Amino acid sequence: MSTLKIGFIGLGRMGRPMVSNLQRKGFATLSFDVNPQAVAALTALGGVGATSVKEVARQSNIIFTMLAASPEVRSVVIDGIVPSSKPGTFVVDMSTIDPLVTDEVAAAIQAAGLGFIDAPVGRLATHADRGECLFIWSEPRPDHFQRVKPMLEAMGSTIHHCGPVGTCIHMKIVNNYLAIAACQLNAETLTLATRFGLDLERTIEIPNGTTANNGHLKTNFPVKALTGDVEPGFQIDLAHKDLGLALTSASAIKVAPGNGRSCARLRLSGYNCATFSNADRSWKRIDTY
Ligand code: NAD
Repeated sequence: MSTLKIGFIGLGRMGRPMVSNLQRKGFATLSFDVNPQAVAALTALGGVGATSVKEVARQSNIIFTMLAASPEVRSVVIDGIVPSSKPGTFVVDMSTIDPLVTDEVAAAIQAAGLGFIDAPVGRLATHADRGECLFIWSEPRPDHFQRVKPMLEAMGSTIHHCGPVGTCIHMKIVNNYLAIAACQLNAETLTLATRFGLDLERTIEIPNGTTANNGHLKTNFPVKALTGDVEPGFQIDLAHKDLGLALTSASAIKVAPGNGRSCARLRLSGYNCATFSNADRSWKRIDTY
């Protein structure tokens, strides 16, 4: 068991399996979530739960945050981690958030003499379950990277280096723009196929053997959309958040990506809902699309 105390904040669909993999691989973790059930689920697996962000901050050398969106990251970092952390603490934000908020929290952390990296995560929640996350790591300093590398390797199987702090959150937004827009196209394609009376399994199989293939059509649609599985993996609200981040960031540099704008206008529909599945937006909405 490592003596380095690792703090982890945000034990949702992604954070829970990521901490669980850290624990299984021998890292001492101290975890917190505002949802006490999420903390209890981890302690049931042998992990140690905290009662506040500040408790995690006081006791940890390295702190990972895996929170849904910008407001949570801003408040956890600025109100909780910054005032309570020991000198030398290193903060790794893995959430997908507004790059301007990444800059804001990076500045607050650095002003307090702490280290900070944005390291957003690619792939699906099922990859997190298996310890196969993809990390986009924005750290040119080898000493920082070497310190955290064993933990990234416990949670993931691929690490890409992108550049200075703030670069990777942009890369993640670009990645999700493509993935989400592709899901909208997948949803419309399956809707069209349904209206044509085509077999849906064949409608997935055949494009996946041509240049029309894409990741979600291959991995998620057969096992979720076609089976009516609405258990959230990536919540549809998070997809809307990421599309909004891409469009807002693009607008700030006077770029207007047309497909993303129409995707946001249409809202993600039909089979898309099954892929990103919220319980209240089942794949059956395809009937009303
Ligand atoms: P989630 O909503 O399941 O988890 C977020 C967790 O943060 C929840 O458990 C919530 O209770 C907790 N939380 C909220 N406020 C908090 C606070 N102040 N202190 C402590 N905990 C707090 O979201 P998720 O699916 O785990 O995604 C997390 C991030 O990772 C998001 O930014 C998402 O866009 C990104 N992401 C998700 C996936 C995926 O497939 N789910 C994949 C890659 C990246």
